[in-house]
Amino acid sequence: MKQIKVCLDAGHYAKVNRSPANKTYYESEAMWKLHLLLKAELEAFGISVITTRPKQDQDLSLWNRGQKAKGCNLFLSLHSNAVANSVNENVDYPVALCYSEDDKIGTDEVSRELGGKLAKVVEATMGTAQKGRIFTKKIDYDRNGNGFLDDEWYGVLHSAKQVGVVGILMEHSFHTQTKATNWLLKDDNLKKLAKAEAATIAEYYGVKTQSENKTLIMGNTVATAGQMATYCLKRNANPKLVDCSIYELAQMFLDEGAKEGVRGDIAFAQACLETGNFAFGGDVDYEQNNFSGLGATGNGVRGNEFDTPLLGVRAQIQHLKAYASTDKLNQECVDIRFKYVKRGTALYVEWLGIPDNPNGTGWAAGNSYGVKILNILSGILSTAAIEVPPVLDWLKEAVNWAKSKKIIVGNENGDLMLDKPLTRGEFCIMLYRYYNLK
Ligand SMILES: [Zn+2]
Repeated sequence: MKQIKVCLDAGHYAKVNRSPANKTYYESEAMWKLHLLLKAELEAFGISVITTRPKQDQDLSLWNRGQKAKGCNLFLSLHSNAVANSVNENVDYPVALCYSEDDKIGTDEVSRELGGKLAKVVEATMGTAQKGRIFTKKIDYDRNGNGFLDDEWYGVLHSAKQVGVVGILMEHSFHTQTKATNWLLKDDNLKKLAKAEAATIAEYYGVKTQSENKTLIMGNTVATAGQMATYCLKRNANPKLVDCSIYELAQMFLDEGAKEGVRGDIAFAQACLETGNFAFGGDVDYEQNNFSGLGATGNGVRGNEFDTPLLGVRAQIQHLKAYASTDKLNQECVDIRFKYVKRGTALYVEWLGIPDNPNGTGWAAGNSYGVKILNILSGILSTAAIEVPPVLDWLKEAVNWAKSKKIIVGNENGDLMLDKPLTRGEFCIMLYRYYNLK
């Protein structure tokens, strides 16, 4: 899906346009709050948002504000209206103002259609007595002979139009009317407006809600260790691992994931992508126990190294949690790069790639990184698992010793075949390995 980008403009700066109906209301302050709330609501839809003013008290010309919309799908300037700046209880209709080249209605279909919807939404949310209206406004930009008339309030729309962006100026009823002013003074009401306007904009551009089309990184694993290992073995019969089988490694992903609330199957799919199904062969060597390229920043940089596979898995799970959540870790941090992550900036697998992340950050620089992981995950989930029987508790100490000394190694699936009979030949091999232990 195409990334939608919106430029939000808080109508005025500092303390400007005080209400005659309620002296505590300033249009500039209310619209600053509203534009930040709307930004958060749009971002929750995965819509990318920029704002025109870096600070509330910063003055910027109309022209400069409109120009900032370059590259956006929509420029939206937020205001409350006034009638001659004296109290007027008879006028309370919301307005959507759209730029027009020739002052004729219907010049810009996009702004008119979306503007009309937004005016209706404001009318319904604020409960105004009068219906929302839409106007088009021709901006005479060479009236003063120097290319642009900067004292024309609607000049932001002309400026946005000049960089090819649809512009709408919203008047959220009138701050010269007492009821509307008091309504706009409540933060909860501004939040209602932000939610309603964001939903309208998202729907207009065909953006679905997050839960409809994105995969959370936090949560319960769906795949089994058997499915994960079998998926990998079908693509690489000899995964390179330090003193563990692919089955044991898959189980570590599930156990470590569960300890931090991260989906272990997603982490394993990521490891399959990063290591080429544990063939390695890139900048990271299999002996580093680094399954996700942590610290391997390209051009031969080897990246982080972990003493055991378990620690490598733990670090990867922790690094995913850094992106996917703002909760603290449940285990001691072994991921030395944890502190570099801006917490909670990639809640979804789809957002792990920087170009796909509306927060402009992520795990990897390449396009569609998250989609590649999800393709592997769906491959894992459709794999019929060859399950390996677990090592029984009373055998564990001896089996682990024999494995660590490479006296038993198991078959290519990592199955130690502990319940299978032993031939005299295999017995000789085991004796020989023991005799030659250093
Ligand atoms: Zn205004």
